[in-house]
Amino acid sequence: MVKQTIQIFARVKPTVRKQQQGIYSIDEDEKLTPSLEIILPRDLADGFVNNKRESYRFKFQRIFDQDSKQETIFENIAKPVAESVLAGYNGTIFAYGQTGSGKTFTITGGAERYSDRGIIPRTLSYIFEQLQKDSSKIYTTHISYLEIYNECGYDLLDPRHEASSLEDLPKVTVLEDPDQNIHLKNLSLHQATTEEEALNLLFLGDTNRMIAETPMNQASTRSHCIFTIHLSSKEPGSATVRHAKLHLVDLAGSERVAKTGVGGQLLTEAKYINLSLHYLEQVIVALSEKHRSHIPYRNSMMTSVLRDSLGGNCMTTMIATLSLEKRNVDESISTCRFAQRVALIKNEAVLNEEIDPKLMVIRLQKEIQELKSELAIVTGEQRTEALTEAELLQLEKLITSFLEDQDPESKLEVGADMRKIHHCFHYLKKLLNDKKIHRQSTAPSENKDQNCQEPLKEEEYKKLRDILQQRDNEINILVNMLKKEKKKAQDALHLSSMDRSELRHGQSAPFPPGNPDGPKTLPLSAPTQALDSSTSPCKSSLLHRKTGMREEMSLGRQEAFEIFKRDHADSVTIEDNKQILKQRFSEAKALGESINEARSRIGRLKEEITQRHMQQVALGVSENIPTPSMPDQLEEKLRSQLEEEKRRYKTMFARLKALKVEIEHLQLLMDKAKVKLQKEFEAWWVKEATGLQVNSPAVTLSNQMKPFPQTSEAQNERSQPLSNKSDVYARKILPSPGPLLHSQEQSNPGASMEDSIPERPVSSVPLTGDSQTDSDILAFIKARQNILQRTG
Ligand code: ADP
Ligand code: MG
Repeated sequence: MVKQTIQIFARVKPTVRKQQQGIYSIDEDEKLTPSLEIILPRDLADGFVNNKRESYRFKFQRIFDQDSKQETIFENIAKPVAESVLAGYNGTIFAYGQTGSGKTFTITGGAERYSDRGIIPRTLSYIFEQLQKDSSKIYTTHISYLEIYNECGYDLLDPRHEASSLEDLPKVTVLEDPDQNIHLKNLSLHQATTEEEALNLLFLGDTNRMIAETPMNQASTRSHCIFTIHLSSKEPGSATVRHAKLHLVDLAGSERVAKTGVGGQLLTEAKYINLSLHYLEQVIVALSEKHRSHIPYRNSMMTSVLRDSLGGNCMTTMIATLSLEKRNVDESISTCRFAQRVALIKNEAVLNEEIDPKLMVIRLQKEIQELKSELAIVTGEQRTEALTEAELLQLEKLITSFLEDQDPESKLEVGADMRKIHHCFHYLKKLLNDKKIHRQSTAPSENKDQNCQEPLKEEEYKKLRDILQQRDNEINILVNMLKKEKKKAQDALHLSSMDRSELRHGQSAPFPPGNPDGPKTLPLSAPTQALDSSTSPCKSSLLHRKTGMREEMSLGRQEAFEIFKRDHADSVTIEDNKQILKQRFSEAKALGESINEARSRIGRLKEEITQRHMQQVALGVSENIPTPSMPDQLEEKLRSQLEEEKRRYKTMFARLKALKVEIEHLQLLMDKAKVKLQKEFEAWWVKEATGLQVNSPAVTLSNQMKPFPQTSEAQNERSQPLSNKSDVYARKILPSPGPLLHSQEQSNPGASMEDSIPERPVSSVPLTGDSQTDSDILAFIKARQNILQRTG
């Protein structure tokens, strides 16, 4: 048993502005424990914080300042916990702090760089590395990923996730057995045999979480996430199995409601988080006080799930994440205060050992055999596994007479023999099913068909009308995009002519990196797809499932998506990662080749050594000289060359392995970014389409068209001219019933587009009056017309 208080660490997030630095200081010179001093800015001293003190001092096991790397955090905080989990103890690491203070960054990692990967991927990597090294035990690893949102548990790895929204999935519930052990119903466990598989599960869960999140419920800051690694180990031949769990917990933001000042849905959520964090606090207070007999674990789901981690059988570590800026001072102080309480809690971790269930099965089988023999002695007859032919026949007779008997009091008596009772039920079930099938097959079918005909037509008509409406919306959206493109191209032309003149004066590049306005000549899709095809089957299936909707997109929508993607701010990150990925691929390829060369050199050297050795022996025999015990000089040289070659081989091989992990991680990061992009596009598209349906599409379209949700302000500005009311719209009304359309047709008699106008009843199409843009639009309409004709 290991007794230990909960370890507390602090991590300070890098501040944006340097002048904020005077707000705290870290004192690590002290012999005992380092401390963090938060200095209250004068203008806040009697503001938010109702206290005249000017500074607060908090002790932590260690304090990681702004410049700490993810690697350092892992080495100092997570590695010791991972080691104790490998030894068979439970472990928990949880991050606590206000929203934006770096909890997710610390636990899972940043979404951009490989070096930003957080505690979860690094711990998985470390654990699998250790498992590979240790051949003395048989290990099994399982992963689960739970999200708690508004006091409800959701399984982030539920395979049904893709088909349904979070609310439709079965909730994960807490069950307690008589020994007060906690079990989670509906939380799936997934076996992971390699680091790659475990990483895939992490990304799958994160992606599911992202997809379930809507702009209305930014659940990620308001939910708790618990990623659990379940590790079992067993020595070969031994019946004892050790189980250890490692919870890696990203808690909801700890900010107080008063400050959030929100209403409606958000308030309910805030209340729930605060409620569950409040209950967490209550549990911690109860635990930190001596002689408290009742600890209120059951008050909330989170405290129930983390019961063992808090004051129980677990080695627990807390990371207080701090965003030490002026406006966050009070939240930071409250985070530190919470940590000081947590540090008082004592846990007692024990090795979780149990007997192998296989042994149990063998024992139970033996017991059954003994009971059977006993039964045979009591009843005087030997019971076999199955009923005999005669017994079966007799039973069927009994059932038939029972069914035919009109007396409601009649009973089916088969005696106290479970085999017979079961057989009766099966037989009755079969009879019932046979009857059902018979009734269905003889039911009259003619008038049924007739009845169905009418609604079917109606339905089909409605479906077709919907498709038509969708296509119309698509056209309208695309026409607007086309116009924007046009404008952008013109602006770019204009800008580049200006920039060229600036460049001549020794200026730097016209577009800063990361500015989505920068001229990108390559559309993103082509190289991305090229990369996709080279990914591993396991990973690409994840991506495929997640981005599956893409395949169902109509052509118009795909086109819109390509443009949306190209202009999205994230495309820069994707592009960067793609470049790194390419580099890594070629590096891996080159390494692979060098490894193969080294391998063949090793083979050649071995052969040379053997030959040389044989020559020496042959020489010894022919000249009757005893075989020299020491290898000759040439052989020795060859041997040292061989050793050198082997060393190189090993180094290269290790590098290749590391590269593989990095490549996999980068690919997953990119997949995630792509899913995000897709999600945002879907939301944007739906918004556009809804806007179009509410208003008459042609008249108000351009005024409603929102710019893509790009981060750059310039993008928004750029879309402004589009909503210029002075834009001339040459609208062509297609042959369609209704008097209104005629009058509109007359309003622009100049446009002669009869040739290119589809004959189908399509609603109006806005044109710009600019001949080039209009011809683009018309070409587009033609294409649409073709598609419609083809799809019937
Ligand atoms: P939380 O999960 O606590 O709400 P996040 O982890 O999402 O906060 O962090 C907010 C933002 O700050 C993210 O963009 C994240 O990448 C960044 N960030 C947090 N901690 C660090 C750090 N130590 N170094 C660099 N960036 C960080
Ligand atoms: Mg977060």
